[in-house]
Amino acid sequence: MKNTVKDILKGKGFGVEEIVYLLKSDGENREELFRESARIKYKYSGNKVYFRGLIEFSNICDKNCFYCGIRRDNKQFERYNLSDKEIVDAARYAFKNNFGSIVLQSGELTGSQFTARITSLLRKIKKLSDGKLGITLSVGEQTEEVYHEWYEAGAHRYLLRIEASNPDLYSRLHPGDKVHSYLNRLDCLHILQKIGYQTGTGVMIGLPFQTYEDLAADLLFMKNFDIDMVGMGPYIEHANTPLIKHKNELLPIKARFDLSLKMIAVLRILMRDINIAASTALQAIDPMGREKAVRIGANVIMPNITPGIYRDNYNLYENKPCTNDSANECIHCLKASLELVGAEPGYGEWGDSVHYFKRLKQETKYNSYFE
Ligand code: SAH
Ligand code: SF4
Repeated sequence: MKNTVKDILKGKGFGVEEIVYLLKSDGENREELFRESARIKYKYSGNKVYFRGLIEFSNICDKNCFYCGIRRDNKQFERYNLSDKEIVDAARYAFKNNFGSIVLQSGELTGSQFTARITSLLRKIKKLSDGKLGITLSVGEQTEEVYHEWYEAGAHRYLLRIEASNPDLYSRLHPGDKVHSYLNRLDCLHILQKIGYQTGTGVMIGLPFQTYEDLAADLLFMKNFDIDMVGMGPYIEHANTPLIKHKNELLPIKARFDLSLKMIAVLRILMRDINIAASTALQAIDPMGREKAVRIGANVIMPNITPGIYRDNYNLYENKPCTNDSANECIHCLKASLELVGAEPGYGEWGDSVHYFKRLKQETKYNSYFE
């Protein structure tokens, strides 16, 4: 194996061993990694950052992931479900403020009441923006028919984190039943890609039991899957979850933050033209966390535009930021702080994943070759 970060970065393609070396780099080596990822980012995605207004429309969830604060068995907080009007108003706010796109996210529910509601919301939001507002969905595992229906109704991107690409690690983070199946989650990602969504995934970084080799394999998983978008960030423990008993085995929170930046940097080098989001969990640890991620590789930010009164109850993890701010105040700060790291908001633009269009072109070429 090559023995400095410089040598590795000069080499073509890296495996687990090289990636682990990069993830463990410090001092001048770490700086070298960040310089290279920043260079690639500016060369292939420019200095634009695209906004996705995040609407966390409900914290009701049927699942019981061991890490998550809004899991079904946590009874220590209030559940909410925004009205259709509140959701549509938040989407209108995003449209009027030139966000370009929104993300509709919630706990995972299935069944026709939930799925038909999403379909009708998608149509309403498309209508109010004359088709101009891009819509990403992040509402978990659903059937192929449902994913199809939502695609037809106007959703064109979908975020479904694999959470941990190693099935053994995945099984230690979730109950061992049918609704928490690794293979089903993976199947869902394949279906989303097949339907034509810009497909996004991601992992949590600094989980209990997780090794550097796991993280390196996560990045290679994303590359091999030919993913279009990634949102990944530090795992932040929550007191009312089963994983809290492993609290003392975790890396210190600052180390999880730094490791997340390195994961973004390596991913940017591995996948030059995908969209990478600077996760809100980075901001929970460091008020400038998202901006730091933008400087070294991320090109998407998801400002929270959930109506303020509900935000305190969408606690996937503790100390979630911005729960007291109004949407307006957040945007104002964000624009100024992005300027500090030399980034420019891509107002009103969808900011689609360039990788997605290249992938489609490749697939068309490949298919016509065999026709
Ligand atoms: N229910 C949907 C979407 C909402 S959860 C789903 O699970 O796909 C969105 C993301 O929050 C999850 O994918 C998970 O990666 C992240 N998350 C949950 N608990 C977390 C924690 N304790 N720390 C950091 N991220 C967490
Ligand atoms: Fe529900 Fe998503 Fe949290 Fe799992 S991660 S408990 S599916 S909201």
